[in-house]
Amino acid sequence: MQTNIECDLCGSEKSMPFLELPQVPFNLVACSECGLVYLDPRPSPEELGQYYSTNYYTSQAAQLIKPTFHQFFKKLAYRARCESSDGITPLNRTTKRVVATLLGWHAFRPVPVCNQGRLLDVGCGNGEYAAWIRDNIKGWKVEGVEVNEYAATQAREAFGLRVYIGHLPNLHLPESHYDMISFWHSLEHMYSPSSGIRESHRLLRNNGVLAIEVPNISCWEAKFIGANWYHLSVPLHLYHFTPTTLSKMIQSNGFRIISMKQVHGNASILDAVNTNKIALPSFLKPLVKIAAHTLGRQSAWALRVYAIKTYP
Ligand SMILES: [Zn+2]
Repeated sequence: MQTNIECDLCGSEKSMPFLELPQVPFNLVACSECGLVYLDPRPSPEELGQYYSTNYYTSQAAQLIKPTFHQFFKKLAYRARCESSDGITPLNRTTKRVVATLLGWHAFRPVPVCNQGRLLDVGCGNGEYAAWIRDNIKGWKVEGVEVNEYAATQAREAFGLRVYIGHLPNLHLPESHYDMISFWHSLEHMYSPSSGIRESHRLLRNNGVLAIEVPNISCWEAKFIGANWYHLSVPLHLYHFTPTTLSKMIQSNGFRIISMKQVHGNASILDAVNTNKIALPSFLKPLVKIAAHTLGRQSAWALRVYAIKTYP
């Protein structure tokens, strides 16, 4: 077990209690200087493995994605955004976006500024995201990083993906090699998210894109549900971000933020109901699920940021 952990954002050794957790001995603290929320005490890297179920990343086996109508519209929506800086006329781009929206599909984690390049997906899990980009957005080459060997094997076998096993800062990948590096719900799992972002700065070419999505500890849902908030994920999530702390960490490591979006969804309350974290008599469940779905959609439960590598 590790205790008295130094703040990963500002280096301060002073912290104050943030949230008392039922999962003894873990607790959430906030840095007294910069407000970064983190787990202290937390499991050591050697202990952490026992807290991951074998299917944490891969509760569903990786499956080849079939060309359905849904996929067609998804591709259309992606393309509309990919081409935003590629000499496409604003009218054409707007038309595509309107069409994609009217068809009822919002692109899931789009590639925002360049329409070709090399993507490194950090925490790629079973590889579905990286493989989808490779197979649907022409011009993209993709690779993944994953600490979980089981997930990495799935990504390799199901999608033929190149996956590096280990922690990003220890892999010594080639400098200025990638056009986009993504952390889709993986940054909060790292022992030092700052060093992950710093390493991304080294690995990206100039003007390359850093894409991050993490749970948002400052959303009302987190405050309302408290210690049972789904995305606390104790003790797997070692850090929790607000728009302020996430921005500071990105900017202090040589990036300029081009967009920060609050992601709305129905995951959290609904999951709490589904997994009986919020215990209810069964006759009430359908009703509460409808309410949770509606309320959850109003909650900005995650933050999605795109940033550009600048020098130094
Ligand atoms: Zn701090």
